Amino acid sequence: MERALTDGIERVVIGAEAIARRVRELGSQISEEYRTGAAKDPRGRPLLVVGILKGAMPFMADLVRAMDFPLEYDFMAVSSYGNGTSPGEVRILKDLDCAIGGRDVLIVEDIVDTGHTLQHLLAGLSARGPASLRVCTLLDKPHRREVEVPVDYVGFVLPENLFVVGYGLDYAEVYRNLPFVGVLKPECVREA
Ligand code: 5GP
Repeated sequence: MERALTDGIERVVIGAEAIARRVRELGSQISEEYRTGAAKDPRGRPLLVVGILKGAMPFMADLVRAMDFPLEYDFMAVSSYGNGTSPGEVRILKDLDCAIGGRDVLIVEDIVDTGHTLQHLLAGLSARGPASLRVCTLLDKPHRREVEVPVDYVGFVLPENLFVVGYGLDYAEVYRNLPFVGVLKPECVREA
């Protein structure tokens, strides 16, 4: 039987309007800061925004359109350590197309949880010698952190230890296309 995507949702945690408002705020803040000092590239090349696939895709698409200065963007994909891999073992599945030596780089993430994924990304990218390296995440779960990672821009701090889906975040690859962030019904967690 056909089912609506929202049938699986128990409650909305962050609505589409709230997300849109916060993305506009972040876009303005980031634009302001890169215009007035965060940019360090001695050659003045545009900021490179790096989206981490797949979760950051909707956030990144909205965020770059809220940023009002010339930029380039690219994507990386990293393996999840969830399936039998231990934290710290994060593999790069898709790397950047361009070199980042001497450039300003902004990583865009969907969520920072334990911090292992971001720690690995930051170590790998800083070894390539960017002029600056910052991080913007839509969601942050600071209470879950196992390793300390610098996060420069945060959309929303999740107040509880919730597993959320939507606006890029999945459960078993589904629910990424929800326009809001929500929590699944318990029966859908078992079903999916
Ligand atoms: P880390 O623990 O390395 O900081 O985050 C690893 C990954 O876990 C995130 O990129 C994200 O894919 C996933 N993750 C963490 N918390 C959640 C959540 O609440 N919902 C979903 N869908 N994924 C999450």
